[in-house]
Amino acid sequence: MTGRSTRPAADALRALRHDVALANRIVERCGLATAFGHVSARIAGGNTFYFPTRRSPGLAAARTLLVLDTDGNVRAGAGQPNSELWIHARIYAARPDVGAVVHAHPPASVCLTQIGQPHRVLHNQGSAFLDGVPEYERIGLIRTRELGDLLAHRLGRGGAVMMRGHGITTAFADVRTATVAACFLEESAGLQLRMLAAAGGEPSRLRPYSREEAERGRDQLAPSVVARAWEYYAAVAEARPLGG
Ligand SMILES: [Zn+2]
Repeated sequence: MTGRSTRPAADALRALRHDVALANRIVERCGLATAFGHVSARIAGGNTFYFPTRRSPGLAAARTLLVLDTDGNVRAGAGQPNSELWIHARIYAARPDVGAVVHAHPPASVCLTQIGQPHRVLHNQGSAFLDGVPEYERIGLIRTRELGDLLAHRLGRGGAVMMRGHGITTAFADVRTATVAACFLEESAGLQLRMLAAAGGEPSRLRPYSREEAERGRDQLAPSVVARAWEYYAAVAEARPLGG
């Protein structure tokens, strides 16, 4: 009986490890991170999560993922965790609904924060952020529990936060959605920058979607859309692995 009940759980954990490692490689291969950045996922039903060791997310592997808890302790695995582990630990502590967190330093999103422009819904995938993306204004890395709590507070009940001069963090129910959302947000920020440049730097010349228009695109993170986007991003990451 024991074997029957534990095998599905073990299979689910193995699948989760695979997805977390792949998500890390996706954010690097898709231009959201270089040497720095990390993706984690909560181990279902508890206060622990899979987290990569201290190296580029492009080099993450399922077998080397650590298990951390929401107090920042390493509970399993060998090696040092990335120093911004507090982003993940404190969001999981604050948000029982969150099953995965992506933190990256994508260039277009960082540019938006440093020209003082909030994210605007200007294309279809941007509609996923219809409710706005708050900004965490304080510069610098999130290397303490207190800063992790501040970031989690700024994120609030939403799915994404921009971090001034630093990057982005997304938080969703599962690792595929959190990863796809991060890719969509950076794509959206990149288009916003190009539109702003084409508009002579005048935000008033942009044509943001109305609330009603953006509502029609709320399904940008529906499971079927996420599945298709994940398939694509995973193929990109696996076709040309870093160092492969
Ligand atoms: Zn960072």
